Amino acid sequence: MITDKPNFFDYDLTDLENLLVSWGEPGYRIDQVWRGMYQELKVNPDEISNIPKSLRIKLKNYFNYSNLLTESTLISANGQTEKTLFRLPDKLAIETVLMRYEKRRTLCISTQSGCALGCVFCATGQMGFGRHLTSGEIIEQVILFERILRENDESLTNVVVMGMGEPFHNYDNTMAALDRLNHPRGLNMGARRFTVSTVGLIPQILRFAKERRQINLAISLHAAEDELRNSILPINKRYPLQDLMDACREYVNKTHRRITFEWALILGVNDTEEQANKLAELLHGLICHVNIIPLNPTNGYAGKATTIQRARIFKGELERKGISCTIRVRRGIDIQAGCGQLASEA
Ligand code: SAH
Ligand code: SF4
Repeated sequence: MITDKPNFFDYDLTDLENLLVSWGEPGYRIDQVWRGMYQELKVNPDEISNIPKSLRIKLKNYFNYSNLLTESTLISANGQTEKTLFRLPDKLAIETVLMRYEKRRTLCISTQSGCALGCVFCATGQMGFGRHLTSGEIIEQVILFERILRENDESLTNVVVMGMGEPFHNYDNTMAALDRLNHPRGLNMGARRFTVSTVGLIPQILRFAKERRQINLAISLHAAEDELRNSILPINKRYPLQDLMDACREYVNKTHRRITFEWALILGVNDTEEQANKLAELLHGLICHVNIIPLNPTNGYAGKATTIQRARIFKGELERKGISCTIRVRRGIDIQAGCGQLASEA
């Protein structure tokens, strides 16, 4: 359903305040509505019991309260990973993945439908760019899953911005969404529970460093030489490795926060001892951690995942050079919910 109404979740607190003040409402109503929607997770203001019926109806008619239509949900064989495909009002699609692991409930959210950056091994890159999500569409993914979890007395513990799209290509909407989710009078999810992953857009990394949020930063590196990185991540031609590493150093110097580098191990491509050594050189002296993950299969890329033995050797090489490193367990591969597997026939 395409509607001309504004999406409630696209408004920040000031926008809501301006609206309610223009309707002649007293100041305290703003907080009641905000808490009702962001803290109590009401489906619409009709359910907010401490505001007058007339205001409930006015608000209900003024806004649209959901841009995401659940089209399908797949659950992995072990029941731990769940992937939902949402249809947007303009018929484009996005996917969101919930991972349950021990006490953790981690949601992987999308910031765009598709992606413009064309990394060769990524299913989202292979499908091309649809459009940026609005801040409200980013927020709603979190709200919808949090609502479901609360029914079982559970709650999201972490949100990773690693679904479809490049968050730093949609910087303003992504940060507006995270700031609103972080808001103390709203959902109040601590900034440290969020991780944003970028393929390495330098101007935005520098801006992120300046803005000093407590949100974790991950950089998708995948190669330690320009020639190789150019061939798998085309954006490297615009933002080559040396410049990217300079930006990372500036980020760490400014924020004193650790960067996570992501590395999808591709058999015979970037899983060699030579690449491990080059990577250790690149990261020398930087506060960081390397997450390695065997490549997940996608239709548009012929490369294969590294064997676990080779992954262990790669990790050993890095650790010998003093770089901390984890081999991440692949999750949700049976339902195409692993890193880089999110795509949809839009
Ligand atoms: N656009 C952002 C975030 C989304 S991708 C980024 O690129 O960082 C999330 C992570 O999945 C990135 O590290 C990305 O490089 C990785 N990825 C993409 N395709 C993959 C694949 N086929 N196997 C494993 N990881 C993949
Ligand atoms: Fe886009 Fe990230 Fe996929 Fe690259 S890896 S195409 S930046 S979503």
